[in-house]
Amino acid sequence: MNTRIMPEFDLLLPETVEQAVSLLDKYQDKASIISGGTDVCVAMKSGYRTDFLISLAKISGLDYLEYDPSTGLRIGAKTTISQVLSSADVKTYYPALWQAASIFATPQLRNTATVIGNLLRASPAGDCICAVYALGGNIVLQGAEGQREVSVDEFWLAYGVTARKVDEIAIELNLPAPVKGNRSSFKRLTRTNEDLAKLNAAAHLEMDGKKCKQARLSIGCVAAIPMRLEKTEALLKGAEITDDLLEKIVTNVGNEISPIDDVRSTAEYRNQVAGVLIKRVITQACCKS
Ligand SMILES: Cc1cc2nc3c(=O)[nH]c(=O)nc-3n(C[C@H](O)[C@H](O)[C@H](O)COP(=O)(O)OP(=O)(O)OC[C@H]3O[C@@H](n4cnc5c(N)ncnc54)[C@H](O)[C@@H]3O)c2cc1C
Repeated sequence: MNTRIMPEFDLLLPETVEQAVSLLDKYQDKASIISGGTDVCVAMKSGYRTDFLISLAKISGLDYLEYDPSTGLRIGAKTTISQVLSSADVKTYYPALWQAASIFATPQLRNTATVIGNLLRASPAGDCICAVYALGGNIVLQGAEGQREVSVDEFWLAYGVTARKVDEIAIELNLPAPVKGNRSSFKRLTRTNEDLAKLNAAAHLEMDGKKCKQARLSIGCVAAIPMRLEKTEALLKGAEITDDLLEKIVTNVGNEISPIDDVRSTAEYRNQVAGVLIKRVITQACCKS
């Protein structure tokens, strides 16, 4: 049911991460975290119910974006898409994430929506999810029993479901330091630019001249969760990226996925176009025209 009216809930405003964790521990699945609210509020107007919204608004010190060439990028729980877009370090060293931020919704929404909120929403259409999945890294979770890190390779479990436990808050995303020859790229297809993706894709390549030493490829909107294309990655590993290889990749992607029909597109369209989109992100990462 879609309505303009929010259902009733209690808004809780902890001032520290510890207080937020203790509220989550107390209310368990009766509570939800709200950060930018651009997913939660829409969901609540469409039938999602929660008794308590635990807002991060009053917790200071979580809106950082810090790059260190030896340890990589740290993005705090309240860092917005606009902050990512303003970062020269993200643009230079993590172009897939920067490109995802650059096409994300509208300027107003980018000022509110957070990167971590996108990852925790666990939608297969999430643009930051797609870029971050290709880039690799860890999500830092803090719960009543302390902190732990979960690799992005083990984070998205089912539609809307992550490895986060019910009493945990995601406090940080860590992306690895770029190594020599690292390149990455992101693209998406939408009906209009403000719409969510019909299909999105990202590539992260470690190149040695024309040869690809390692590849991570991710694709969204073709299953209930975002996917890594491990069979296609294997074709790239150790190979020179030629036009012939790219054509083989287009075919291989079509065989590796079993897309879904949903409100934004059809399985048939996605199956035909996915391989071409992957070819384009690989080509863009390699800076070919
Ligand atoms: C008009 C519109 C356009 C949009 N366009 C795009 C788009 O182009 N691309 C795209 O990918 N998405 C888009 N979205 C979806 C949404 O904006 C993003 O997913 C956004 O990044 C969510 O961030 P948020 O801070 O608003 O999350 P919230 O709505 O606050 O939270 C989202 C989910 O994450 C959980 N959560 C948030 N923070 C934490 C935390 N620290 N720890 C644990 N759980 C947490 C919440 O409980 C909730 O389940 C759009 C939404 C709207 C309304």
